[in-house]
Amino acid sequence: MLNIVLFGPPGAGKGTQSTFLVESYGLVHLSTGDIFRSNIKSGTELGRLAQSFMDEGKLVPDDITIRMLESEVNAHPDAKGFIFDGFPRTTAQAEALDGFLMERNTPVTSMLALDVDEAELKIRLLKRAETSGRPDDANPEVIQKRIDIYNADTAPVASHYAVQGKFIAVDGMGNVEEITERLQAAISI
Ligand code: AMP
Repeated sequence: MLNIVLFGPPGAGKGTQSTFLVESYGLVHLSTGDIFRSNIKSGTELGRLAQSFMDEGKLVPDDITIRMLESEVNAHPDAKGFIFDGFPRTTAQAEALDGFLMERNTPVTSMLALDVDEAELKIRLLKRAETSGRPDDANPEVIQKRIDIYNADTAPVASHYAVQGKFIAVDGMGNVEEITERLQAAISI
């Protein structure tokens, strides 16, 4: 069982790289941002709850996010492993993830943390806004808010995995293929 936490600030390339890792390792991809967006699109209660937080670049509250992620994990009892993209984003989420993976006897294998300069993140997000249709990518103030929240609330999650000896930093600058190769090398450690 390979359970990868793909970590990094908004615009680091987590979604793009997940696609390649899913293909290479046959993992189930769970992106909390994608799940919230699909709930907004189909007009569910969860989508309604999440939307105002997402539009402002804030985190959706832990209780809502944790409950949703746990039910997604439980919906895949036969998975060979998971790639967690955009989760955990707080220490409380990391503790909850450890808890319910422990119940399944399949702990997190490693956290791969994509390291990208802030100026490059902003360039990538504004570029992505041209095609993603995501309102949170198109507004520079919302982008700044997301980066600030990442630095304040999410970056500390790295230490949660560092103390478990599971944290691996990966250079996220450069082209998509070379970053994929670095991630594959980190997984094979
Ligand atoms: P992403 O697609 O990962 O960039 O996430 C888009 C937005 O969804 C974030 O700015 C948050 O509002 C919300 N979101 C996604 N994942 C989480 C999470 N693990 N905890 C709280 N909010 C989240």
